Amino acid sequence: MIQRDTFLSFNPPALSDAERAEVMDTLNSEWVTTGPKTRQFEVELGAYLGAPGIVALNSCTAALHVGLSVLGIGPGDEVIVPALTFCATANVVEHMGARPVLVDVEPGQLTLDPIRVAQAVTPRTRAILPVHYAGHPADLDPLFALCAGRDIAILEDAAHALPTSYRGIRVGSRSSLAAFSFYATKNLSTVEGGALTGDPALVERARTLGHHGMNRDAWKRFDRTGSWYYEVVLPGFKYNLTDIAASIGLQQLKRLEGFQRRRRQLVAAYRDGLGDLEALRLPVAQPWAESSWHLYVVRLDLAQLRIDRNAFIEELKARNIGTSVHYLPVHMQPYYREKYHYLPADCPVAADAFTRMVSLPLHPGLSDSDLQDVVAAVRDVVARFRV
Ligand SMILES: *Cc1c(COP(=O)(O)O)cnc(C)c1O
Repeated sequence: MIQRDTFLSFNPPALSDAERAEVMDTLNSEWVTTGPKTRQFEVELGAYLGAPGIVALNSCTAALHVGLSVLGIGPGDEVIVPALTFCATANVVEHMGARPVLVDVEPGQLTLDPIRVAQAVTPRTRAILPVHYAGHPADLDPLFALCAGRDIAILEDAAHALPTSYRGIRVGSRSSLAAFSFYATKNLSTVEGGALTGDPALVERARTLGHHGMNRDAWKRFDRTGSWYYEVVLPGFKYNLTDIAASIGLQQLKRLEGFQRRRRQLVAAYRDGLGDLEALRLPVAQPWAESSWHLYVVRLDLAQLRIDRNAFIEELKARNIGTSVHYLPVHMQPYYREKYHYLPADCPVAADAFTRMVSLPLHPGLSDSDLQDVVAAVRDVVARFRV
């Protein structure tokens, strides 16, 4: 059995002395929570994305929540959510008292299937929440066409999509809303953090809602130029990003293009190392897509193997390779399954993909020899358990 000496973590953080120095600078300043560094991060990230408006928040979940709020989603409304996503995409719809309508994904890049979305639209549909799964953009044009002339908004779950482009348009540069995540495992991390981009008027309402409903830049009230006076215009939430987190983000943003270059090299190396294995289906990018390559999700052809996906993961673990699964589909999660009586077969593509998928390590800190260890381990498991 081929085995590396030490366990290879699936996705460790890519933090350097630059982030540590920026955090220390903030800790030694007079302002540590939402303030000048957060503002600077918004300006720099907004410029990078080409965002019409941007607010930094303390998570993508928060960004999705205030995004749905400013769109006026509420009880009686339906919001279309892909079955194959992280639970937060559907949970926020529940927070609004609305109903998440779970729709299947396309078999190719595993993003929301526009044909099935069209079939799922009802007079109650108020929003669609496409997810750019693994960093590959969802097919947005048919979704925007479907919404045209109807009271249906699009709020992109862009947690994986920094930086992703769809037909040459950067995710986050449109006037419709997009929610980004800077969670520890994401392509750019502030440990915990997020942002909402889109139309400036909507984004400023989201800012107010995420800062207790205060009607002015509340942090400025402690500044020499500020005033102690504020008014609460909405019963808002506590979703602000700290300057400590923004410090990390400022330095991560400087490194992002380098991270992305490395991700693309690693993807090419996986293709070279695994592309000939018939028991494995590697991820591909559509010609109209520029993926952020957040995840590298391979799918097993179980008919060609004597073990299932879970055993495949155990075999990789025995060879000191950490992997993950993204995700148990939402319609198969107990809460959603029981509340809405979903069966796995209601979203058959997501359910089938789930039984076959393994996410292999893909992060900028992965060395060439780490990657070759993954390739060797995968090849060893396939060779050993081929039918
Ligand atoms: C990570 C993630 C989220 C939530 O992001 P947080 O910043 O942790 O709230 C939402 N949707 C998807 C698809 C994610 O991967």
